[in-house]
Amino acid sequence: MSDGRALARQFLEQQRLLGGDPVILPEALVPRARVAVAPPTGDRPGPVAVPPPSAPPAATPATPGPGVPPPGLSYDPPTGDLFSTDPVLQAASLAAIAQLVAGCTKCRLCEGRSHTVPGEGAADARLVVVGEGPGRVEDQTGRPFVGQAGELLTKILAAIELPRERVFICNVVKCRPPENRVPQYDEIAACLPYLVRQIDLVKPAVILAMGGTAAQTLLNTKQSLGALRNQIHRFRGIPVIVTYHPAALLRNPNWKKPTWDDVRIARRLIG
Ligand code: SF4
Repeated sequence: MSDGRALARQFLEQQRLLGGDPVILPEALVPRARVAVAPPTGDRPGPVAVPPPSAPPAATPATPGPGVPPPGLSYDPPTGDLFSTDPVLQAASLAAIAQLVAGCTKCRLCEGRSHTVPGEGAADARLVVVGEGPGRVEDQTGRPFVGQAGELLTKILAAIELPRERVFICNVVKCRPPENRVPQYDEIAACLPYLVRQIDLVKPAVILAMGGTAAQTLLNTKQSLGALRNQIHRFRGIPVIVTYHPAALLRNPNWKKPTWDDVRIARRLIG
C-alpha cells in the first residue's frame, strides 16, 4: 500500500475513533499524487496514480490559512522581580516544582489529599495539556489524567501523532477537590504559581486548555468554554486552544467532533 493510502486509512480510523468528519483530510495527510481512474488495460483495471501538475508549488503562506481561528484573548500574568526569593519562581526544574507541591499547604485542598498530582511528561514538550484538578484515581496514584478520561486523552493525543510521553500534562490545582467539585477561586489563586512556573520551564509551542476551569484560569476570564472555543488565545505569548475536558466527552459523546476539530488546530500550530 502506498504511503498516501496508508496515511488516509490511518486518518479515517482516527476520525472514526473521535467521531469526526470522515470527508475532509488535513493538508498534511493529502497524498501528493492525485488518484484517477484509468481506462482498463489488460486484466488489471483500476485506479492509477497520476503525477501532480508540473506547475511550481505555491509558496507557504506566512499567515495562517483558511480554517485557522481568529486571535482571541491574551493574558500575561506578572512574574516576580529579579531578586524574588519565592521558591516557586526559583524552581529550576519540573522536579523541583513537584517537590514544592508535595509539601504544599497553601490552600485547604491539602487536607483531603492522598497524593499531590503535580503533572508529568516531557520537560521539552511542544504541547502542554492543562485540565482542572485531580480526580479520585489521580489522587490515589499521584498521576494526572489516568482512569477513563485519561485513557481518552491518550487516544486523542495518539490521533494527532503525539504520544503521551512527549506531552506535558497537568492541572490547574495539584490536589483533589473533595467530591470532585470545581476548585474555588482562592484555591486556584494559591496553586496558580506552580502552573505558571511549569509553563515557563517547558516553553511549549501550544497549550491545550481542557475544560472551562483551565481555559478561564489561563486566560483570566469568566467567559464560557463555548465562547472561548474556535479562537487562538495567548498565555504569555504562547497560543492557547480551548476544548472540552475528556471527562465531559465521556458524559456527552456529541462533543467528540468539536474536540477533534480543536485538537487538529492545536496540531497544526505545533507544526
Ligand atoms: S491545591 Fe495547590 S495550593 Fe492547594 S495545597 Fe495543593 S498544591 Fe498547594
